[in-house]
Amino acid sequence: IRSVANRLTNIPFSSIREIFDEANAMQKSGINITHMEIGRPDFDTPIHIKEAANAALQEGFVHYTANNGIQELREAIAVKLKRENKIHVDPNKEIVVSVGCKEAIVSMILAFINPGDEVLIPDPAWLEYQYIVELAGGVSVSIPLREEEDFILNPEDVRARITSKTKMILLNSPHNPTGAVLPEAYLKELADIAINHNLLVLSDEIYEKLIYEDAEHISIATLPGMFERTITINGFSKAYAMDGWRLGYAAGPEKLMKPIMKVHQYNTSSATSFAQYGAVAAYLGTQEPVFKMVQEFDKRRQLLVNRLQELDYVSCVVPKGAFYVFPSFKGIGMTSKELATFLLREAQIACVPGSAFGNYGEGYLRMAYSTEYKQIDEAMDRLGEALKKLT
Ligand code: PLP
Repeated sequence: IRSVANRLTNIPFSSIREIFDEANAMQKSGINITHMEIGRPDFDTPIHIKEAANAALQEGFVHYTANNGIQELREAIAVKLKRENKIHVDPNKEIVVSVGCKEAIVSMILAFINPGDEVLIPDPAWLEYQYIVELAGGVSVSIPLREEEDFILNPEDVRARITSKTKMILLNSPHNPTGAVLPEAYLKELADIAINHNLLVLSDEIYEKLIYEDAEHISIATLPGMFERTITINGFSKAYAMDGWRLGYAAGPEKLMKPIMKVHQYNTSSATSFAQYGAVAAYLGTQEPVFKMVQEFDKRRQLLVNRLQELDYVSCVVPKGAFYVFPSFKGIGMTSKELATFLLREAQIACVPGSAFGNYGEGYLRMAYSTEYKQIDEAMDRLGEALKKLT
C-alpha cells in the first residue's frame, strides 16, 4: 500500500488490547477469567428501551434521519438537560445526536482544533482523548491527577500549563479511570480559568448517573459565563447499558454547535434511526432500571474498595463515581503492565494497567466493577494469594 497519512504516524492502537486478547485466549482455552478490564455495564439494556426500538424498526423507521437526530429525541434530551442538569438548550439548534459520545467528542475536536493548538487533558484519562486531539493535529498537554488529592483535578496544575496556544480543556467527571467526581468549588475555579484565558470546555459527562455517597454531579455549563464556551457531551452507553447502540449527543450554544454539526454531517449523516427511538424511551420512560443498576454498582464498589484496602502494599482512593477503582500497587515494585499480566496468569483476573491511561497512571490498575458481586469477592481472594507470592 501507499504510505499512510502523516496524521497517523504517532498514533498507536489501543494498548488495552494486549490484555483483552490474552484474557480472551485464556477464556477460550477453558480458564475462568474474572473480567474487570471492560468499561461497560454487565447489565442488559432495559426491556422498554428495546421494545421501543423494536417497534420503530417494525414500523419502518429504517431510513436516514435529520442530521442532528430525530425531533422526539432532541426534545427528550432538551427536557432531560433542563430538568437534571439545569442546562437550557434549543432542541432544534443546540443539540446534535451522535454515534456514541465518542463521535461527539471527535466532532468537537475536529471542529475547533487547528494544528498546534494545545488541549489540556487530565492524566490519567480515557486515552482516546489524547489521540483524537493528535489526529486533529492538536497538541495534548497532560495535567497530572494525584492520588493524594483523590485524583481531583487541581486548578493550580491547570493554570501552570496554560500558554498562548491553549484552546480547550477537557473535563470528565465522574472520571474514567479513577472514579473521581469534581466538587463544585473546583468547578468554579476551573470555570474562572476558562473564562480568563478564553478556553473552550469539552465536558464529558457520560458517567453522570453513576454516582455514590454524598457526591453530586454538576454540569460546568451552568456556572456563570460558562454556557457560551462549553459543549456538554453525554450518551446512553453507561447509564442505560446501551454501549452497543452507539448513541450520544453534544449540546451547547448555537454558535459552537454549528461547526460540530458540520463535521458530524460529513462523517455520519445521522445516528441509527430505530436506535434513536430506543433512546427516547430511555429518557422519557421509567428510570427504575438505572436506580437498580446504580445500587448494585454501589454494593460492588464498597466490596472492592474494602477488599483492596485490606491488602498490604496496596492503597486505594474511594471512588465516588463511574464503575472503576484505581488502586495503587506501587508498593509491589512492578510496572502496571507487568502486574496486570501477572494477575491475569496467576489469579485469572483481567484488569487494565494504569499506564494505558497516561504517564501518571503508572503504578496503578483500573479495576471495573461491572462484574458480579460474588465474582469480585472470589477474585479478591485470588488476588490476595497471588500478591503474597510477590511480597
Ligand atoms: N467518554 C468516556 C470517559 C468513556 O469512558 C467512554 C467509554 O468508555 C466514552 C466516552 C465513550 O462513550 P460512547 O460509548 O457513548 O461512545
